[in-house]
Amino acid sequence: MKNIIIAVDGHSSCGKSTVAKAVARKLGIAYIDTGAMYRTVTLYAIRHGLAKEGYIDTEGIAGALGDMDITFSFDKEMGRNTTYLNGENVEDEIRGMAVSGLVSPVSAIPAVRAKLTDWQREMGRNQSVIMDGRDIGTTVFPDADLKIFMTARPEVRARRRYDELTAKGQEANLAEILRNVEERDRQDSTRAVSPLRKADDAIVLDNSDMTREEQFDFVIERVKEIKQAHPCK
Ligand code: C5P
Repeated sequence: MKNIIIAVDGHSSCGKSTVAKAVARKLGIAYIDTGAMYRTVTLYAIRHGLAKEGYIDTEGIAGALGDMDITFSFDKEMGRNTTYLNGENVEDEIRGMAVSGLVSPVSAIPAVRAKLTDWQREMGRNQSVIMDGRDIGTTVFPDADLKIFMTARPEVRARRRYDELTAKGQEANLAEILRNVEERDRQDSTRAVSPLRKADDAIVLDNSDMTREEQFDFVIERVKEIKQAHPCK
């Protein structure tokens, strides 16, 4: 059986990872959260004084990429990811507002994108994967077997992120989250290298008024269609 590559791209906080994890679990394939990689580079940059509000040390961050050992452990059964930076569990810290506020300008640095794109391609070379991010269907895997472009109304997305953070006991402010979600969409869509955009052959999934089950069923149906059209996949 040939490996299958599923690309899930879209706007910030629209539940890409929730759907992707559930689909990975159902199909027994790897789930790769590329946003976590960009977030971890950003955390490193913040900790080393290379990124703060209004200041991004592009060359400093590019030069430090070799010092960052980013690894994951993914529990397929639990559908849970843990991200490590040089051996330290940073999963909670990379989801906080400090990182969310600086991740878009750090992600716009060409050297950062080149390094992470190579790594992502490597991860999809010899296994079936579902990968979520902003440029998976356009840049990382332009020949992916299935491309989903997810979106939802900004207010709905902000509320979901708010609920996620408060459920973990983290401080959250709904208005600030809404501003961050909209600002990240703007920056991610307008950057020079690999901007966020729907691939021409991606299927749009607007989940503003959909349950998790409906989103999951939508993707699984598309996977079945591919398998029917190409029985060796
Ligand atoms: O998916 P998540 O919201 O965690 O991504 C955080 C940020 O990482 C995005 O706002 C974007 O700036 C960046 N990103 C990217 N390309 C990807 C994945 C994430 O630029 N493939």
